[in-house]
Amino acid sequence: MIQRRLRVIQWLSTTPALAVCTLCNREFKVPLGALRNTADAQANLQEQFDRHECEPPDCSRAADAFAKSPTGTKKKTTAKRVRR
Ligand SMILES: [Zn+2]
Repeated sequence: MIQRRLRVIQWLSTTPALAVCTLCNREFKVPLGALRNTADAQANLQEQFDRHECEPPDCSRAADAFAKSPTGTKKKTTAKRVRR
């Protein structure tokens, strides 16, 4: 099983300011109030990271399910046939 990790991608001197989840690429920003203190910033990022749920990297599955839903094309062709 792949483990997700928190990776800091932006630092303000020694304070982490922006981090991403290595699994779903979700970004986590440190609120301005927490940026003053390195420990606060780290704790804040970690908390956001722990709370989030990873999203699938691409939405092809959702799009596929949508395309399969029985709406649209069939209705149109039927309507034309009925008219003529
Ligand atoms: Zn994630």
